[in-house]
Amino acid sequence: MPAPASDLSITRIVAAPLLGESPKGGWSHEIRPEDSVHTLIAVHTSAGITGFGSVFTNGGLVQAGLKVLEPLVIGENALEPERVTEKLHQNTFWMGRGGTLTHVISGIDIALWDILGKALGQPVGRLLGGVHRSRVRPYCSLLMEEPERMADVIGPFREAGFRAFKIGWGPFGRHDDARLDEAIIRAARDAAGPDADLLVDAGGSDAWWKPGLKWAIRTSHMLADYRVGWFEEALRPDALDDFVELRRQSPVPIAGGEVLTRRQAFTPFLVRGAFDIVQPDVTKVGGISEQRRIAWMANEFGVQYVGHGWNTALGVAADLQLAAALPHVDYVEFIGGSPYVDGILAEPFRLDDQGNLEIPMRPGLGVDLDPDRVARYTPNAADLFAP
Ligand SMILES: [Mg+2]
Repeated sequence: MPAPASDLSITRIVAAPLLGESPKGGWSHEIRPEDSVHTLIAVHTSAGITGFGSVFTNGGLVQAGLKVLEPLVIGENALEPERVTEKLHQNTFWMGRGGTLTHVISGIDIALWDILGKALGQPVGRLLGGVHRSRVRPYCSLLMEEPERMADVIGPFREAGFRAFKIGWGPFGRHDDARLDEAIIRAARDAAGPDADLLVDAGGSDAWWKPGLKWAIRTSHMLADYRVGWFEEALRPDALDDFVELRRQSPVPIAGGEVLTRRQAFTPFLVRGAFDIVQPDVTKVGGISEQRRIAWMANEFGVQYVGHGWNTALGVAADLQLAAALPHVDYVEFIGGSPYVDGILAEPFRLDDQGNLEIPMRPGLGVDLDPDRVARYTPNAADLFAP
């Protein structure tokens, strides 16, 4: 039986940095095994229900952020995610607004929605307003390599049943060599097959991204020749005016927004018409509460929403629930070969024979972490799961 709401207060929040097997980012300063860039969060309650969330940032930052947030959140009603996380936003305006604290609030918010679902016996997607779909297509996100390696990069995931692929970062756009860029895309299209969805991510949020608007416009025409579904982060993430111009001139849809946080940061990009597709990250923007508002705002502007919460299985689970609860969602991002996605759940995600994922309809986020598997990647799994 669900516990009475009065008994469900937040008692403790734990952050567990994931280490050792973080997938390569394709970043110019590559992630090392000892670097923590993905962090799990557990929110414990007086009724013994625990909610789990995920944050795409360094575990030490998350633990420090929790110290700042705990006085505001401990003792709060665990069944009111939107009000509680908005309280955290409202009371931290001087302390890293849009930065670490917003990231940490994201993980807390996801965990609070998980708690609400578990307490009420309903999937989060239904609590967000209703379930529009039971399945959604994951696109398999893979790093670009030199052209001769792209078949090895894509092949195993095509064999595994994926029907949509996004290739990004790596050498693309970084060598001032249009022939190399095209050779990578040609090799990827050959490897993915003529019927697969193929998406391209330049990774313009990488350090010292150099190619500018003219490169992006020229490249967008090349991508159209290979029936690429969208061109992502073709410019530096804050280049609003250039994104507006690129979207006007590009024959392929323009995507971006993964590094933006807070709904307010998305407003000018939507009002000005910078994107065909907006990609907020539920583990960064402020959680499910914030992501839902961004996705609905995009919908008002005729901009498609695709979630970027691929960092852990919990980020994917949150994206799946959001995909259920919004009217026009074609994809979720799904990084290929990450143990933090494939290796921490009691029942890993599985593709159906159409290359789609079923959206869990069990209470909360609808997935269960496996404590023993999580313990392979974090020093404080025991604390995360201790009631
Ligand atoms: Mg991206």
